[in-house]
Amino acid sequence: MKLTFPRLTTVWVPLQTLFLKNGVELILPPAPSKRTLSLGTKYAPEWICLPYKILLGNSIEGMEMGADTVLSVSGPGLCRLGCYSSLQEAALRDLGYQFEMRCFNWQEKQIVGLVEFLRDIFPGKPLLDLIGDIKFGIQQLMLLDDLERRTLKLRAREAERGAVSRFWRTVPERVGAAYSPAQLKQVRRELAAELEAIPLDPRRVPLRVGMLGEFFMVVDPFTNMDLAIELGHMGVEIERSAWISDWARVWLFLEAVGLSHGNKVKKAASPYLKRDVSGDAIQTLGETVLHSHEGFDGVVHLQPFTCMPEIIAQNMLPQVSREHDIPVLCLVLDEQMGRAGLVTRLEAFVDLMLRRRQKRGLAVAAGV
Ligand code: SF4
Repeated sequence: MKLTFPRLTTVWVPLQTLFLKNGVELILPPAPSKRTLSLGTKYAPEWICLPYKILLGNSIEGMEMGADTVLSVSGPGLCRLGCYSSLQEAALRDLGYQFEMRCFNWQEKQIVGLVEFLRDIFPGKPLLDLIGDIKFGIQQLMLLDDLERRTLKLRAREAERGAVSRFWRTVPERVGAAYSPAQLKQVRRELAAELEAIPLDPRRVPLRVGMLGEFFMVVDPFTNMDLAIELGHMGVEIERSAWISDWARVWLFLEAVGLSHGNKVKKAASPYLKRDVSGDAIQTLGETVLHSHEGFDGVVHLQPFTCMPEIIAQNMLPQVSREHDIPVLCLVLDEQMGRAGLVTRLEAFVDLMLRRRQKRGLAVAAGV
């Protein structure tokens, strides 16, 4: 078996460790690039949303490198996510690739489904070892998310521009090179010490901004055109609404035992949206309300062009913004969006938030 999967966000790190540790020949495609997006756009239906195009483009790159098995994930069928996997398979077959598709449906049986799925890929592997591998993968994800969370705060305070990003670029490979809990502990110590040692400018008073919207757009830096880095360099500290390790905790474990979650967010969103319209619409509205209560300077809302749940949320956001007095910047992204246009809009938004702070007599960021 020569297995490939799209190299998205940081989730490829635990997957790589898992498959290499268990002797699977892995074909890891390159990190998503302009080529990935143009391949995906060329072979995807015109109406599909941006995440699918990147996922398909990266799967094609994996097939070009010689993969014969594709790992895929399918989710709830309320929005287009429900047809991602079957569309991806059909597109790759139309291109003439011979392969086997292994698809994990994360909403069907949660953690039990994941164990069954992996048992099918690694037949004969003892159950306890398999559970140990899953636990280790989640620990890797938690470490990655913990470090990234800290970079989102520190980037706005770094004394030398780019120092935090230089550090972060080394992190996924180093976490992926840890194959045991002892090695992971050692890497954690080293990375924490390096992050601590990055010089900060004590004069900075960063703006605080929530980064929210469609899950994939929020977590994947290629898809959102390094929004966190761009804002960080403009002196903005970011609170991201979505994290892969939180997703794993909720969807693999809490949902599996019927525990409710996200009640605070649902309650905050309820005056504007009472029922789940799939995707992340409720989170977008609820988090915007909560951020206003927490004194945030603004929120950036990310949505892929034609994403139905986020269009619903976007229509409510002007009212939320007015009633809760919080500036909202809505960014609708697709393959036509250029970095220069994005940066111009971010600069204008930062300017607006700074003026708003000044008007209220609050401290503003120094050295931006
Ligand atoms: S939430 Fe939006 S972008 Fe994500 S899969 Fe559904 S329709 Fe597409």
